[in-house]
Amino acid sequence: MRWRVRIVLADAGRATTVEHALRGLGMWTRRHSAHGHGGDHVAFAVTPTSTPVPATAVRGVDGVVAVYDADSLHPLVDAMPRTCTLRGRVLGVGEAPALFAGPCSVESEEQIHRVAAAVARHGAVALRGGAWKPRTSPRGFQGHGTPALGWLVDAARAHGLAVVTEVVAERDVDAVAAVVDVLQVGARTMHSGALLRAVGAAHRPVLLKRAFAATLEEWLLAGEALLLHGAPVVLFCERGVRGPDNGMRNVLDVGAVAVLAHAHGLPVVVDPSHAAGRRDVVVPLAMAGLAAGACGVVIEVHDRPAEALSDAPQALDPEALAPLGLRRQ
Ligand code: PEP
Ligand code: MN
Repeated sequence: MRWRVRIVLADAGRATTVEHALRGLGMWTRRHSAHGHGGDHVAFAVTPTSTPVPATAVRGVDGVVAVYDADSLHPLVDAMPRTCTLRGRVLGVGEAPALFAGPCSVESEEQIHRVAAAVARHGAVALRGGAWKPRTSPRGFQGHGTPALGWLVDAARAHGLAVVTEVVAERDVDAVAAVVDVLQVGARTMHSGALLRAVGAAHRPVLLKRAFAATLEEWLLAGEALLLHGAPVVLFCERGVRGPDNGMRNVLDVGAVAVLAHAHGLPVVVDPSHAAGRRDVVVPLAMAGLAAGACGVVIEVHDRPAEALSDAPQALDPEALAPLGLRRQ
């Protein structure tokens, strides 16, 4: 009997007795934080060199809730829910395409209120904006931080929108998770195991950007890490990968969107703004992503696009969203 990955979910209240029982059966286990799959669970990852014990025997251990044995390296991704509910709106596989829109950076209280009103009119389910900005240049605008988080949440709530924001450092996770609906992990930090662990343990849905040159397996394994540490669901966000200089910032990998959406049946969203880096092709690329199977789009908009403090060349005037026709259902 062989397996590549075994995950045992246990009732949190009986985690220690389960752990002892598993070790008694010859399984080396590593305990992960409480798991978000429909209850208060603890996940144990079993080291592949452990004594092979039939799954039926493991299921028979008192306190064990589920056992995942898989050839797949990412069994939790394979088993995760395909939809999630944000502020009463269901989005994901099989649902109407969702729009996540907002400015690259939350620049001021007034700016984020104006943008929230505009994206709500255009059918957005969530206001997405950065309070902390991971920038390529250390001299670029780094975001207003904690005050911007408050402005973002207030503006979203005033317009009935969910909130998505990026968390760039482990120390900020708890404060951000306490007030937002979806935590974003950025392309620059997709490979940070420590950040993935902290974000997963916040038990919030996660928008996981693909790193600039990540393989699909690396991207899926980053999703697996989030789920293992407690995230209830991951929305995989394709935001363009490194390619030749074709006049755009990145290359929107619609093939990756199609593979994740159609071969893996996963919820994928596309971010044509960071892929293009220029406003004139954002809407066509969004449409390409939806055609490839994306269940949503992430688009940067600004009420004064030319004046945006970050990513101005790709910022859209909110009116430019109209051709997408992403009305709220
Ligand atoms: C962003 O979404 O604002 C951002 C910085 O994107 P990425 O991590 O994809 O570069
Ligand atoms: Mn940006």
